[in-house]
Amino acid sequence: MSCQHTEKIDAPGWTEPAPDTTEGCYDCLAADEHVWAHLRICLECGHVACCDSSPHRHAAAHARADHHPVMRSFEPGETWRWCYLDERLV
Ligand SMILES: [Zn+2]
Ligand SMILES: [Zn+2]
Ligand SMILES: [Zn+2]
Repeated sequence: MSCQHTEKIDAPGWTEPAPDTTEGCYDCLAADEHVWAHLRICLECGHVACCDSSPHRHAAAHARADHHPVMRSFEPGETWRWCYLDERLV
């Protein structure tokens, strides 16, 4: 079964949402904790959050809480995307 969640973001004319912060994980920063390992950006709303190697795993939490399954790596030079529902690269 292939991922069905990239239809919108692969459509012509789609543009990536602006990141809600470029300083680090939005949720970690809100808690004044600078503990993230790597950053991800939600391709639905631009929310920047931390990866599953980070203590709080805010990207996964955001994907579940807001039903925004597809994110992209927000690390410099990285463009891969991941679907949290299908748990695969998309
Ligand atoms: Zn998917
Ligand atoms: Zn975080
Ligand atoms: Zn989102």
